[in-house]
Amino acid sequence: MKEQLVKRAIYSFFGPPGSGKGTLAQKLVADDQYLVLSTGNLCRQHVAAGSEFGKTLNQYLKQGHLIPDALVTEMVIDWLLAQTQTTSPIILDGFPRTQGQANIFLNFLNDVRDKFLFKVIVFDLSDDEIVKRLSQRIVCANKGCQATFTDSQKQEKCTFCGGFLTKREDDQEDVVRERLMQFPAHKEALLGFYNTTGQVVVHLDIARLLPLQVYASFCNLVENRDGLK
Ligand code: ADP
Ligand code: ZN
Repeated sequence: MKEQLVKRAIYSFFGPPGSGKGTLAQKLVADDQYLVLSTGNLCRQHVAAGSEFGKTLNQYLKQGHLIPDALVTEMVIDWLLAQTQTTSPIILDGFPRTQGQANIFLNFLNDVRDKFLFKVIVFDLSDDEIVKRLSQRIVCANKGCQATFTDSQKQEKCTFCGGFLTKREDDQEDVVRERLMQFPAHKEALLGFYNTTGQVVVHLDIARLLPLQVYASFCNLVENRDGLK
């Protein structure tokens, strides 16, 4: 049997806050063909559960700071190892986000290299567009759902679960600014690291694309274009 056939794909979505990674992941999960882990959603679920671990995470979240590399990577690996019920491809929405995370994670994948095929999708979007999108973003308050919408959709309830829609706490302007400030340095180091390790990285230019067009672009990529398969 061909080697590729037995490997399970992992697509890492990397892009600035508000670049639509979560919206695409949400659509792919609704298709029922992918398993998605959004590290941000998982962190917020821990915070909402009120555990000691959640309290630790919230120290970082509420200030717009990243969770320490070792902590977030361990969380992802634990989740990944538990996904044995299906062989669906996996989306990691918002992970790895730093060179340190990628380093630990790729080392882990190397140890289990027969099992997974790791691909990185980078979402490219200008700063102006990001700020505009984040200021319009509203999310489902149900932490089991956390679907995202925009103000302009003028709806009050989540179309998936009927939950109330609210602004995310870290979408306030000063916290957004902090999150955006950290992004370029992490991006440069992470993409530099992928470059030196020969990691396949595909860029999706999503300026002016509607969510359904982003979805179509991703499906095109996966359907054997640009060396993604
Ligand atoms: P955004 O992409 O808009 O920043 P997320 O929901 O992906 O939103 O992340 C929200 C917060 O969760 C981050 O500001 C950070 O505190 C934490 N977080 C999520 N993913 C990671 C990660 N890979 N590494 C460190 N912290 C993370
Ligand atoms: Zn919902």
